[in-house]
Amino acid sequence: MRALTKLNAGPGLELVERPEPTCGPTDVMIRVLRAGLCGTDLHLQQWDDWAAATVRPPLVIGHEFYGEVVEVGAEVTGVEVGDRASGEGHIVCGRCRNCRAGRRHLCIRTQGIGVNRDGAFADLVVIPASNVWVQPPSLDPDLGAVFDPLGNATHTALQWPMVGEDVVITGAGPIGVMAAAIARHAGARYVVVSDASDYRLGLAHSAGADVTVNVTRESLADAQRQLGMKEGFDIGLEMSGAAPAVTDLIANMNHGGRIALLGLPHQPYELDWGKVITHMITLRGIYGREMYDTWYAMSQMIATSEVFRAAVTQVITHRFPAEQWEQAFATARSGQCGKVVLDWS
Ligand code: NAD
Ligand code: ZN
Repeated sequence: MRALTKLNAGPGLELVERPEPTCGPTDVMIRVLRAGLCGTDLHLQQWDDWAAATVRPPLVIGHEFYGEVVEVGAEVTGVEVGDRASGEGHIVCGRCRNCRAGRRHLCIRTQGIGVNRDGAFADLVVIPASNVWVQPPSLDPDLGAVFDPLGNATHTALQWPMVGEDVVITGAGPIGVMAAAIARHAGARYVVVSDASDYRLGLAHSAGADVTVNVTRESLADAQRQLGMKEGFDIGLEMSGAAPAVTDLIANMNHGGRIALLGLPHQPYELDWGKVITHMITLRGIYGREMYDTWYAMSQMIATSEVFRAAVTQVITHRFPAEQWEQAFATARSGQCGKVVLDWS
């Protein structure tokens, strides 16, 4: 099969022929139709310190995918050959305290598809049946490929009820834009999104943001003034990983404001802890997706709202055949894009 592979420890990737994977008794084999590019894949291509410390080549990369089930293990029930499916990319141990309590997103031994074991930038991928999310056959394959990041956005945005709340999202990458669509869908009053890219803020606007803030020219305080807000934002969603964004967030929250942080910083940074404490601001880190409540929630939002479906679909701005993976990676790296998808069909 074709597989986009990290062959050796060091920068670069290669599209090579690899043996087909084998499907164990509790596994499912999926023929990949579409796969989404994520920042993680760019780190793996570039071979930064994180990649060097984490990955043992050879490794097939990629973890955002959608396809057709072509084989199910002997012990598998509930998934059948011919099903269309997306995959949860975090494989949990099932034995730790959190797993046994049903808090699988908090597993202490999480393994990542396309990071710790062979991934989905290939014709075939094998995952445990418990990681398969069967999709309605009518679902647009491109949408099926973005359930992983849509799940990050959903998990983060739905930490607290949003009805009537003023919501600010820092970072208009694919996940921040999807979060804007969720906030709109979930009943927020105002949705404000910040980024340094006008192209990406345009996507946020189309997803339902009331006001967008280009941080190279404006601040969140300007957005508050524009909207006639008097007390500060109720809910913050941090989706940039940028320290200045967090500083600006904390400065613009109402007392008692709540911030869910998904964006991964490159290094530790300082915060105005006095403000966090005296304004009783809640900070909550978010990892992955809840298995499988997040999957349920996003599936129903996609299924029941044409507006929501359109808002998420427009985040997918580029699609390349798998053979043109280099161009796909260059586009994703440029930032002049929303979600970039590889077509393996
Ligand atoms: P992305 O890199 O495409 O988007 C981040 C955006 O933040 C960019 O558009 C960038 O221009 C913007 N930005 C940079 N500095 C900013 C600032 N000061 N203010 C506002 N915006 C700023 O990433 P993505 O794929 O949308 O993912 C969002 C974040 O979530 C990333 O940091 C990613 O690493 C992280 N992530 C975390 C998890 C998790 O489980 N915690 C999972 C997936 C992604
Ligand atoms: Zn576990």
